[in-house]
Amino acid sequence: MSIAGLALSLTLASTTVITEGIQLPAAPPRCAALAAAPVCRDTPHGVIVGPAEGGGEAAVILAAEEARVAEQTWTSIFGIDPAPYAVVLDQALPSESLRAAGALRVLPWMSLTARRTMMEQGIRDAVAGQVPASQVEALTAAAMLQAAPQMQISLDNSAQPGVMAHELGHIWYMLGFWADAPQGDDRYGSPAPDWLDEAAAVLMEREALTEARRAAFHKVWAEAPRLDAVSELMAEVHPAFASGASVETLTNGAASASGPVVMMMSGEEFQRRTGTDIGAAAAFYTRVRAFVDFMEARTGDHQAVVRLTTHLRAGGTVADWFAQDPAGVVLGGSVAAADSAFKVWADIATAEPT
Ligand SMILES: [Zn+2]
Repeated sequence: MSIAGLALSLTLASTTVITEGIQLPAAPPRCAALAAAPVCRDTPHGVIVGPAEGGGEAAVILAAEEARVAEQTWTSIFGIDPAPYAVVLDQALPSESLRAAGALRVLPWMSLTARRTMMEQGIRDAVAGQVPASQVEALTAAAMLQAAPQMQISLDNSAQPGVMAHELGHIWYMLGFWADAPQGDDRYGSPAPDWLDEAAAVLMEREALTEARRAAFHKVWAEAPRLDAVSELMAEVHPAFASGASVETLTNGAASASGPVVMMMSGEEFQRRTGTDIGAAAAFYTRVRAFVDFMEARTGDHQAVVRLTTHLRAGGTVADWFAQDPAGVVLGGSVAAADSAFKVWADIATAEPT
């Protein structure tokens, strides 16, 4: 995948979203209680709603299938039920009515049709801003034709199985483990270290996306093999926030107490809003996946991430966890020892052909 074609999807929740002492409701929202929803499908723990027009029903059915798989993946990895949620395609229903029906968080999502329309509108606007009115029509058609292959790649990427599951993972991780924890200074996701928020989401991704991240790690490691990869990752600020941007500036104030906002940004837009190169941002996800793979390969312990989470939630530190947890001990018993173990693992893993 070329960097130019890379669109980064970020779930950004306002730092004010966390409510003290939140109680997870026992019952998920149900379509039966959402009479105003044009199209609606129940999943075991949530609802997917979308518009009736423009292939909305097919998009809702597809999203519901993805969400159902995501729920199973979540429970098998984290051992708890997903918090009650809703996914809303193309703003088919206001978030308030979904929350009133029991959704703790509402994930706004775009159907492929809406994504395509948005991209085409972007091209139309760009052309209209540059040429005399008499030429707009002809030049727009030419620009559409030229942009078509890149647009298709971007649409295919956004439609990959696991992309929505990743974002649902962020929501369920935050609600399942950190709902009543003070956010402190952490800007991204939950109060967990940024890499751990991302790990929870990356673990939700499906085969093709996971393989793409593993292939990308070969390149990342070849370009920058590190002696302190684990220490660096543990302390790293999510690249979207590394230069001090806030959720409010990244989302133009759209992220609010009502729930997360999903941003799809092109490389240029990401650079403009965050001051960070999108390739560096993508490498963060790649290195998170690699660390999760390293833990799994070395410990075979599927519960390690969950125990680390509950340890941190209880006020423990990453250093204690490495020293005390059985998986941490296998990884070397300290962050510094894990740095060395990771280097050995990464050198071998990237020496194999992809
Ligand atoms: Zn993420």
